[in-house]
Amino acid sequence: MNQLRREPLLGRWVAVLEKSLLPEEYILPSESPTGSTCMLCSGEEDAEEIQALYDESGNWIAKVLRNSESVFTPEGDLGRRGVGMYDIMNSFGQTEVVIESPNHDLAPEDLGREQMRNIINIFHQRMIELEKDDRIRYVMIHKNCGIPSGDLCGHPHSLITAIPVIPKRIKEELDGAKHYYEYKERCIFCDILREEERLGERVILNTEHFFVFCPFAARFPFEFWILPRKHNCSFRDINEEEKRDLADVMTVMFRKLRKLLNNPPYNYILHTAPSRIPRRAQWHTLGEDFHWHIEVMPRIRRLTGFELGSGMYILSTSPEDATKYLKEVSDGD
Ligand SMILES: [Zn+2]
Ligand SMILES: [Zn+2]
Ligand SMILES: [Zn+2]
Repeated sequence: MNQLRREPLLGRWVAVLEKSLLPEEYILPSESPTGSTCMLCSGEEDAEEIQALYDESGNWIAKVLRNSESVFTPEGDLGRRGVGMYDIMNSFGQTEVVIESPNHDLAPEDLGREQMRNIINIFHQRMIELEKDDRIRYVMIHKNCGIPSGDLCGHPHSLITAIPVIPKRIKEELDGAKHYYEYKERCIFCDILREEERLGERVILNTEHFFVFCPFAARFPFEFWILPRKHNCSFRDINEEEKRDLADVMTVMFRKLRKLLNNPPYNYILHTAPSRIPRRAQWHTLGEDFHWHIEVMPRIRRLTGFELGSGMYILSTSPEDATKYLKEVSDGD
């Protein structure tokens, strides 16, 4: 069985495949597969279908499949155990692939806002469903687009991964938000929103329900965040009006990003509260101190050894300049 191992120094969990890849199996593709070699265009019949949406003529327009090759498996128990000084558990969990378009070359932002709303609805429904399993501590929604982002198929898709631990990166955010709240009794994200709105120099888009800006100390050039204006710790609580607005915002922003940087590879990640299981007293202010958001990270340059070794990032375009470019570029063709 695949394993989760906890790295003892920093407390980071890693997932280890039981059946190791051979050295010669590590061949990085240099360009995106085309429709004829794409596993979502060709091999999708083999995967277990979890959900599908159809248009009026009965053709599918979006699908959720179980990723059978995932390092996480939805069977068995958690099997938490210690081996000497180390902590191990079974790699329990599930990865689902959301196929965002039936067409290999048409991204959801090109299929109209309705399609983006369908995708957001799927994220919402799947998160609620996956969090029903009390072994699951975190549901991570993310997208890899383009080869350097980890995307191996080139077909518009996103991923939903449900895991039994809270990943370190999330834990750091939760802890940071909690400490700020302990000190100020305010949500740090609400404060950032107010401050950025007051300053204005990093605001890309400001709609009725969402606020899009380049973070003051971003990690990647042209990184931007999408923050709901209404305070809420969990994406689960998004309402229909907010979903409509978010679909518009995502459509506009991904079209802008593609136009500005000529179809760049990118990742986005939806950061939300862990599934709320009242296990630990330390989470009691979670509802007030955390605020869900989407982080979008263009992958237009590779990380250097300095960045990997230090965790300190080098921004070759300032967030203020990135804002200007992203604001000015049109979202049309
Ligand atoms: Zn495809
Ligand atoms: Zn807030
Ligand atoms: Zn975040």
